Amino acid sequence: MLLSTKTFGRRLLEWYMKHRRDLPWRCNAQRPGPLDPYHVLVSETMLQQTQVATVVPYYLRFLARFPKVADLAEVDEQEVLRLWQGLGYYSRARNLQSAARKILSDHGGKLPRTRDELLGLPGIGRYTAGAIASIAFDQRVPILDGNVTRVLCRLDNIRTDPRSRDNQNILWTKAEEILPSKGIGDFNSALMELGATVCTPRNPQCLLCPVQKHCEAFAAGMQESIPAPRKAKPTPLCRRQTYCISRAGKWLIEQRPPRGRWAGMWQFITIETAQSSGESLFPLSVLRPRRLGLVSHALTHRRYEFEIFIARSRNGDLPRSDRPTQWVKLDDLHRYPVPRPHVKIAAMLRDETA
Ligand code: SF4
Repeated sequence: MLLSTKTFGRRLLEWYMKHRRDLPWRCNAQRPGPLDPYHVLVSETMLQQTQVATVVPYYLRFLARFPKVADLAEVDEQEVLRLWQGLGYYSRARNLQSAARKILSDHGGKLPRTRDELLGLPGIGRYTAGAIASIAFDQRVPILDGNVTRVLCRLDNIRTDPRSRDNQNILWTKAEEILPSKGIGDFNSALMELGATVCTPRNPQCLLCPVQKHCEAFAAGMQESIPAPRKAKPTPLCRRQTYCISRAGKWLIEQRPPRGRWAGMWQFITIETAQSSGESLFPLSVLRPRRLGLVSHALTHRRYEFEIFIARSRNGDLPRSDRPTQWVKLDDLHRYPVPRPHVKIAAMLRDETA
């Protein structure tokens, strides 16, 4: 980084105070602060791997339903998953509730203040612990998320892979070295804000950047090629067959196992395609399945393809008994946490049966 870190911090904070976005988890004239640490925990958990615009309505709904740690700790997990539905990465929701329960049982209902204690809560890693400790408690602790990584790499003209172990160590050290003596939470938030709104992955707005004079990448004309792009890995395709089975205006849904992707959520009866080769899984229960269409769903590391069949149940037989099942009307499906592909399937069924 060019020039002094003190000037850097002053410039960055002045810019942040003037230009920061008004977000519901930040102080403003109506919410003068101090911030509720539990609210910081919720926002930081939701913001992991998720865009701000997506998070805002979820955050507001979640806190309207669970305004205090105890509200979240005491509710049934199904309700938490239902409120989280559509936000993805559902292990975050389960960990958040486990953390709330631990805060209640081990910390008297108050979030611990230090990074080390925060790291002892389920689902809280180094970044989230740093964010909560600095933003909620103004502890002198650095943070390093994707936005901060990019900003620091550009400031120091780091051209090699920022995810390498060596570079991660360098970047965490750097993130700590540049912390000011006070206003740590605002400083960390300002670094993230700069990465989110000015020092963006593509087309960084260097001419508007408050710390352009400190930036080695800009001085070298390298800002567009830093950080080094990640080598694209092929994402595996997982094929599934989904049987939408109806009986007297209701549809059969099953609960997914308690572990793995979409754990504990509800779906139309679904099998892995490899399982379905050969003999039908539903010789007794399903009458004349008819193909309805295909639903695709892409996650970061894999893609799914659901081939959808519509069928009627014969004599009310259940197709398999190894998972909890329910017959529900489509209009009542919102009472269950349902993975996004199955929300799409439900929409197809509504069109089909309208
Ligand atoms: Fe990012 Fe450009 Fe600012 Fe450097 S000058 S920190 S590349 S926006």
